[in-house]
Amino acid sequence: MEGYRRLLDYNARWVKGRLAERADYFTRFEIGQRPEFLWIGCSDSRVPAETITGCEPGELFVHRNVANLVVHTDLNLMSVLHFAVEQLHVEHVIVCGHYGCGGIRAAMTRRSYGLVVDKWLRKVKDVYQRHLPSFEAIREPEGKLRRLVELNVIQQVTDLAHTSVIQQAWKDRGAPWLHGWAYDMSTGRIAPLTRMTPEDLPDDIYRFDL
Ligand SMILES: [Zn+2]
Repeated sequence: MEGYRRLLDYNARWVKGRLAERADYFTRFEIGQRPEFLWIGCSDSRVPAETITGCEPGELFVHRNVANLVVHTDLNLMSVLHFAVEQLHVEHVIVCGHYGCGGIRAAMTRRSYGLVVDKWLRKVKDVYQRHLPSFEAIREPEGKLRRLVELNVIQQVTDLAHTSVIQQAWKDRGAPWLHGWAYDMSTGRIAPLTRMTPEDLPDDIYRFDL
C-alpha cells in the first residue's frame, strides 16, 4: 500500500534536479502556456505521451481516453479541443492510437463490458463494420486488431475535421494540421498513418458555412 510514496520521493528528486539545471525552471511556467501540440491518446499506462515524444512541460496539451476516441458529444474532449485550438492556437492535433489496445480488442469481441463501456466502444465497432471487407481479407486475429487500431485512428482524425472548431480555425489561420499516428509498444516506434491540412476539406455534408 505504500507504493505511492515512490512517486512523491521521485518528485522531490526531480524538482531538485530541474532547479540545478536552471533556477527559473518552474517560475517561468507562471506566465502561461503556449503548447505547439494537442495530443489525443489512449489512457493506457504504456503510452505516456511526453515520454515517447521527448516533450517537456509546456509542450503538449493532452487529452486521453479509452481507445483515443473523438466523440462529438463528449463535453470533456470538445472542451479540450476548443480551448487548445481557439485559445492556445496549437499548430498540430495528434491522435495517437497504439497496437495491442485493450479498448480496441474489447470492441472486436461480442462480450458485454457493461453499459458505459459498451456505449463508449460502439464507435470502434462502427469503424470495423464500415471496413468489413478489408477485415474479412485478414486471417490472423492479431492482424485484424492492428488494422482496426489504424482505421480507428484515421476515423478519429476525420471526425476532428468534421468539427466546427477545426473548420473555423482552418478558415481563420490555416491551422492546425491533424495527424493520425500508431504507437507500437513492443518496439517503442510511432508510425504516422494519416495527415489532414486545411486543403483536405471534408466531404460536402460535413462542411459548415462559417
Ligand atoms: Zn489503448
